[in-house]
Amino acid sequence: MLILGVESSCDETGLALYDTEQGLLSHALHSQIDMHAAYGGVVPELASRDHIRRALPLTRHVLETAGKSLQDIDGIAYTQGPGLSGALLVGTSIAESLAFSLNLPTIGVHHLEGHLLAPLLEPDPPEFPFVALLVSGGHTQLMRVSAIGDYELLGDTLDDAAGEAFDKTAKLLGLSYPGGPAVSKLAAQGQAGTYQLPRPMLNSGDLNFSFSGLKTAVLTLVNQQRDTLDDTARANIAYEFQEAVTEVLTKKCMDALRKTGMKQLIVSGGVGANARLRERLNEAARRRHYHVHYPRLEFCTDNGAMIAFAGAMRMQQKMQESDHSFTVRPRWDLAELTKP
Ligand code: ATP
Ligand code: MG
Ligand code: FE
Repeated sequence: MLILGVESSCDETGLALYDTEQGLLSHALHSQIDMHAAYGGVVPELASRDHIRRALPLTRHVLETAGKSLQDIDGIAYTQGPGLSGALLVGTSIAESLAFSLNLPTIGVHHLEGHLLAPLLEPDPPEFPFVALLVSGGHTQLMRVSAIGDYELLGDTLDDAAGEAFDKTAKLLGLSYPGGPAVSKLAAQGQAGTYQLPRPMLNSGDLNFSFSGLKTAVLTLVNQQRDTLDDTARANIAYEFQEAVTEVLTKKCMDALRKTGMKQLIVSGGVGANARLRERLNEAARRRHYHVHYPRLEFCTDNGAMIAFAGAMRMQQKMQESDHSFTVRPRWDLAELTKP
């Protein structure tokens, strides 16, 4: 079964072809980062317009790369939410109209289910059940994943997401958008011991997170240092910030594995690309004989492959039927996917 996947929830247009026998055949991405950089963040209206420009050329591209034609496709999966409503509408309308004209079934995929399943696209994927850390621009959640579509929320952020904290810290340090990669690059030049930042909720006893206080602590440091905030000081702050975030994330992942009695962790979402986070998780897991699975770096952030894959899994298991009527779901709780 050959599935075309369409992702357009935010500032990346992603297309991909996933075959349930042969795996991922092709994928292509256009990132709007450069376009939004001048504004310091995503401008929704610009995002929608750009998705319109990119979606069909990228569709042609993935078909050509895979040596397939439209007639070979068996179904179309697209991100139905959550995300920016205008951006979602573009991918949704293109997918639904293409499917209508080709008489194909469609499947509206939850963007976070896409992120969550992305590590399963790699060789030697984990078997169910496992614990998932979903750590992206908009979410920081720990989940028990028992099967496709069976997700139990174990912990969540009470305020900012980890990626959001990276982005806001980057802004405070005068770095470019998106902040995660920029902060981690600067942190590599920083040193331990110069500054102290809090580890929010490290010992809260539950699996929840909170990152907004950390960002405020960075703001206070930056304000205190205003006259002496040279490159060394900025690098040291970035270093300490990254240590604080990755320490909390690592501790809570280990707690989640211990509490659930599971031995496998998967990490997905943009912050999952962070090298220091991977280093800490791998080290902590190694000591406890746990296994950690990640997506390849390019599939940590938004992409079409994860949507094609999640859609293919759902279609294969006949979990969803479509009638070509459609709505986007800008707000959509992943837990709603689990049928009682
Ligand atoms: P969501 O999926 O929750 O709707 P999103 O799609 O914007 O949000 P992703 O595309 O998964 O999120 O990830 C983007 C986020 O990941 C940004 O906040 C970015 O700063 C962060 N990020 C990307 N690379 C890194 C990195 N190397 N280190 C830390 N953070 C990173
Ligand atoms: Mg993005
Ligand atoms: Fe995302």
